[in-house]
Amino acid sequence: MQVSGRVLVCDSIDRAGIDSMKRAGLAIDYKPEIKANELVATVKDYDVIVVRSRTKVTKEVIDASNAKIIARVGVGLDNVDVKAAEAKKIRVINAPEAASVAVAELAIGLMISLARNIPRADAETKKGNWIKKDLMGTQLSGKYLGIVGVGNIGRHIGRMAKAFHMNLIGYDPYPINKEFISETGMIVTDLNTLLESADYITCHVPSTPETKHMFNAERLAKMKPTAYLVNTSRGEIIDENALYEALKNGKLAGAALDVFEVEPPTNKLLLGLPNVVCTPHIGAQTKEAQELASIVIAEKIIQILRGVI
Ligand code: NAD
Repeated sequence: MQVSGRVLVCDSIDRAGIDSMKRAGLAIDYKPEIKANELVATVKDYDVIVVRSRTKVTKEVIDASNAKIIARVGVGLDNVDVKAAEAKKIRVINAPEAASVAVAELAIGLMISLARNIPRADAETKKGNWIKKDLMGTQLSGKYLGIVGVGNIGRHIGRMAKAFHMNLIGYDPYPINKEFISETGMIVTDLNTLLESADYITCHVPSTPETKHMFNAERLAKMKPTAYLVNTSRGEIIDENALYEALKNGKLAGAALDVFEVEPPTNKLLLGLPNVVCTPHIGAQTKEAQELASIVIAEKIIQILRGVI
């Protein structure tokens, strides 16, 4: 069944979803560089607003809109004022599982980067410096990996880490999938025990008032001085100044960050530390994840407009 409606795509998304919406009969305006003022001025003409992370769907945008659907081609809804949308009875949809494998693979890559000093080894070798003796690494095998937030991504990384013969410790205030626990042998514990026992800690929690600065000075101090912290979830969950102090003072061996309190990051002191590995929020930035997210979102939009879901 064909559907009708106008869709404004505000950020760059994979073509697959756009093609499928066109085939279903929707008219697409693709404006991946649209500015906030243009969005407010033109949003009233659209039934569907599609964004990734760049565009902020603020209350001002929502108040000006006549949309039925706001769609985020990704996981978190931090850039959409969901309350304002709900107040206008606008459906807000996302693609929660599309990026799970991509983020989990990046987190594994960051762990290995920390364990084997890969970024520094690469930079020095290219400069002509043969610093082999400075690059004594450690192995993942046999180490304890603490997973904070055992949802979609946390479970994917848990399964991948088992292939590296790591032992899993998990903390989540909500019940963790029982099959996953029996499949991986994860030890489920409280946050303090996890902090005190893990050799690597990887964070996969949403950004909420409860998780803001959940890694503060007090919690970082509970970690082993030989431990590594990896964050591919949201920047706000780590107090970056406290992390800087812990790393600088040898209270923590290293950290790898894909997300920051402010993006692009401004904390030059933290970024300047040799035991910090950084990536520019590329967790979901794979061809496969972007294609899947755009297809999932397009399908949801079509089904909603058909009145099926
Ligand atoms: P999810 O909802 O499947 O899992 C989140 C888990 O965190 C849930 O099990 C939940 O119970 C748990 N949780 C909630 N509050 C908690 C707390 N206070 N302490 C510990 N656990 C808590 O989400 P997901 O798909 O696994 O995504 C996890 C995070 O990764 C989100 O913050 C998401 O925005 C982020 N993410 C980042 C990228 C990237 O590009 N780096 C891409 C996708 C997702």
